[in-house]
Amino acid sequence: MTTITNHLPTAELQRLDAAHHMHPFTTGDALNKKGARVITKARGVFLTDSEGIEILDGMAGLWCVNIGYGREEMAEAAARQIRELTYYNTFFQTTHVPAIALAAKLAELAPGDLNHVFFAGSGSEANDTNLRMVRTYWAQKGQPERNIVIARKNGYHGSTMGGGSLGGMAPIHSQGGLPIPNIHHIGQPHWYAEGGDMSPEEFGLQRAQELEAAILEFGPERVAAFIGEAVQGAGGVIIPPSTYWPEIQRICKKYDILLIVDEVITGFGRTGNWFACETFGIEPDIITVAKGLSSGYQPIGGSIVGDKVAAVINACEFNHGYTYSGHPVAAAVALENLRILEEEKVLDHVREVAAPYLKAKWEALADHPLVGEAKICGMMGSIALTPDKASRAKFASEEGTVGLICRERCFANSLVMRHVGDRMIISPPLVITPAEIDILIERATKSLDECLAAVK
Ligand code: PLP
Repeated sequence: MTTITNHLPTAELQRLDAAHHMHPFTTGDALNKKGARVITKARGVFLTDSEGIEILDGMAGLWCVNIGYGREEMAEAAARQIRELTYYNTFFQTTHVPAIALAAKLAELAPGDLNHVFFAGSGSEANDTNLRMVRTYWAQKGQPERNIVIARKNGYHGSTMGGGSLGGMAPIHSQGGLPIPNIHHIGQPHWYAEGGDMSPEEFGLQRAQELEAAILEFGPERVAAFIGEAVQGAGGVIIPPSTYWPEIQRICKKYDILLIVDEVITGFGRTGNWFACETFGIEPDIITVAKGLSSGYQPIGGSIVGDKVAAVINACEFNHGYTYSGHPVAAAVALENLRILEEEKVLDHVREVAAPYLKAKWEALADHPLVGEAKICGMMGSIALTPDKASRAKFASEEGTVGLICRERCFANSLVMRHVGDRMIISPPLVITPAEIDILIERATKSLDECLAAVK
């Protein structure tokens, strides 16, 4: 049998990939026609592909490589832990030091009384945990009929049965029998696309009040929780109007509805604070984390749970858990990641250097003829492509056609910038330097120019 390594020709790697590897969110047909780009190594903010081309990763992988690629200390932390205790579980009254240390560290970093952690292997799994946890909470309190979870259209919470159901994405709901029962989706706070003539503030308030209307329609005695991303990521980096979260918070408090904030993308520095709940002044009952928790060096996620919910869940046996809940190697790597974020003052770098520098350059892209708006929150930004700035019009072509052209121009220009429909989005590693931001903006501008020429 041929040994498959980096040294095989790209075409052969692509042939084997298309023949045997089933990819997430990709058609086999696309793989057969073009072949996937083969990424072979990465350092800092740059990827290298099998042709030796260096690409600036404007997405930090899938919004996760917060400390940048290839940190030696992270490899050492994993190796040390594999030698010490490769694996043990945390079921049935056993534990181990990496899980204890990581849970304690997260309790220290998380705001308010979020002092308890239930570990998972990913963001999707953590949201599945949340769904079962909030329903179990109310059942334990003698209100089992309180089982409806309210979420949002165009939200993303993963692609498992629970995560995909909590999310509000039509392509995900169209496959595999989603959403599961008793999950209800209200409108998203996406002013640019749906706000019409309202001001962003009026619209934010109106969209938040859809939560109150839904609670009153079902009856508060049937609603367990509301879940939302602090800033919608996969939906297109949609930064909510300033009025949105305070109103959501008010409504949850008024009707005693649990508030779950999904910080899988926004956690660990992406908005300039450890958690976006601090950025937006939200006081959640549960936070979902993954991605930046380990900077993507190991698969790990979790639910950080407040005292009120944890007291009820800990008082019963919560019949839930994953073989890899709190996996010692993943936990040790996550701890090392948190140490790097803290000791290297990465959040200060975001707040004082990277985010202000990127914001100025990113917002200036709004002057480009193809760009209707350019918004950014910390280190996650979006631009809306439009044929007519004044009316925020959509293209005549099917939604996403122009976005795809732009993404392909970016790729050809050695920049990873993702498209969501006709919005372009970035979420680079937090450690990106001003000089690297200049490269990002230069490549993005060139790609926008080429895209404009292609759609004219
Ligand atoms: N929640 C949010 C906000 C996400 O953006 C994602 C992934 O992009 C998830 C949950 C799912 O995480 P995972 O892919 O680790 O299951």
